[in-house]
Amino acid sequence: MKSREHPGDMPEEEFKKYGHELIEWAAKYLNGVESFPVLPDIKPGELKSKLPLNAPAEGEEMEKIIADLDRLILPATTHWQHPNFMAYFNSTASGPGILGEMLSAAFNVNAMVWKSAPASTELEETVLIWFRKLMNLPEEFKGIIYDTASVSTMHAIAAARESAGFDIRKNGMSGVPKLKLYCSEHAHSSVDKGALTLGIGLEGIRKIKSDSEFRMIPAELEKAIKDDRANGAVPFCVVATIGTTSSTSVDPVDEIAKICEREKIWLHVDGAHAGVTAMLPEMKKHFNGLDRADSFVVNPHKWLFVPVDLSILYTRKPEIIKKAFSLIPEYLKTAEDGVVENYMDYGIQLGRRFRSLKFWFILRYFGVEGLRSRLREHIRLGRLFAKWIDEDSRFERLAPAPFSTVCFRAKPGGNNDEKALDELNEKLLNNVNSTGKVFITHTKLNGKFTIRLVVSGLRTEEKHVMLAWNVIKENLELLLQQN
Ligand SMILES: *Cc1c(COP(=O)(O)O)cnc(C)c1O
Repeated sequence: MKSREHPGDMPEEEFKKYGHELIEWAAKYLNGVESFPVLPDIKPGELKSKLPLNAPAEGEEMEKIIADLDRLILPATTHWQHPNFMAYFNSTASGPGILGEMLSAAFNVNAMVWKSAPASTELEETVLIWFRKLMNLPEEFKGIIYDTASVSTMHAIAAARESAGFDIRKNGMSGVPKLKLYCSEHAHSSVDKGALTLGIGLEGIRKIKSDSEFRMIPAELEKAIKDDRANGAVPFCVVATIGTTSSTSVDPVDEIAKICEREKIWLHVDGAHAGVTAMLPEMKKHFNGLDRADSFVVNPHKWLFVPVDLSILYTRKPEIIKKAFSLIPEYLKTAEDGVVENYMDYGIQLGRRFRSLKFWFILRYFGVEGLRSRLREHIRLGRLFAKWIDEDSRFERLAPAPFSTVCFRAKPGGNNDEKALDELNEKLLNNVNSTGKVFITHTKLNGKFTIRLVVSGLRTEEKHVMLAWNVIKENLELLLQQN
């Protein structure tokens, strides 16, 4: 044990020594990640039971801490960086992103106001303009970085609420008529959470029916708005999704935008996962009408190789977010107010991390074409997997695959018993995942247990998707033999 009671940080020599050692550790981990089971073989509470009950009184050696990374942390880790992680919406942290993240900790600026972090403030403005151009968003769209899409969307809903015309900033919610927010039944739960946070209430959230391809039906939206107005409620926000979480379906944003314009309702578009594909000219068709939205959220930490977390909210009405949230206490007034951007004005948080640094590293290191070609490869692999499903009579696809997410189930031998099919597919998914070779997850579409495979990992190659397919087929065969 070493007494570290003397003041001051870790000495420079030691910082360098272990800095190099940990980069080696991380490089070896990433290079060898395929040798681990994607999902750890671990029971709830297992790690906690191995950790001491109290923090050490005396400083410990770095060797010992690093040894515990291998001994305790690795075996309790689900490997998101694994090429066979095809669950949820995968997000890979790329090399340049990891290095950028490390440096933002080294600077440790707190970007509350321009003065507290000019570099963070101006790099954020610049990088978000680059990205806006890459995604062909309108020039009026201003970007703001938040941690997650959930928080971005909450701020968009807050702006929508502020622009509903009741001066809620001043008066609060009392005396305000019932406000109504609309989204499809496939919208992400973060929309509900944001609305709940803002006092809209579950009854204020209307889930609009979707069509056979899981897209919001505009006529149903129109009808709901009309009914609510007739009942004295105030429609104030519509959330459309480009790439829903279950099936990556795309709401008809163009038609929804027309309704919102006519009804004077804020339109927020959720492109948390699939939004980054606006960078690809061939995907333009999925983004029709986005230029007419009031706000749009996209997560580079989902499918653009940025380490968690980094979400961007673009809006053509940043002044409304500011109106909803800006409060400048005396101790944060600066001489530059009014001339510069003070990002604390755009939300509930004061302190902000230097998140744009890692994104800047990534945009520069891979370049626009480098990023585009990676997205295209994932889309190609997703379509290839969809084709294998379509060509195998024991399986069926349960949704279109406009991006690189494939929804399917096993349906062997013309089995039409829905309950039995649900059970079979749930077992199949569990068996596949317990091999440790791949990790995939599920959803429900039209009440059917649906297996979902997503290709968006930086390390995922055709051989990995093929391995996943083989593991799925082998496990189906085993299950069928048992019956
Ligand atoms: C993942 C996802 C979210 C939530 O993202 P967080 O950054 O984890 O809050 C919201 N909407 C959609 C469509 C998503 O896929």
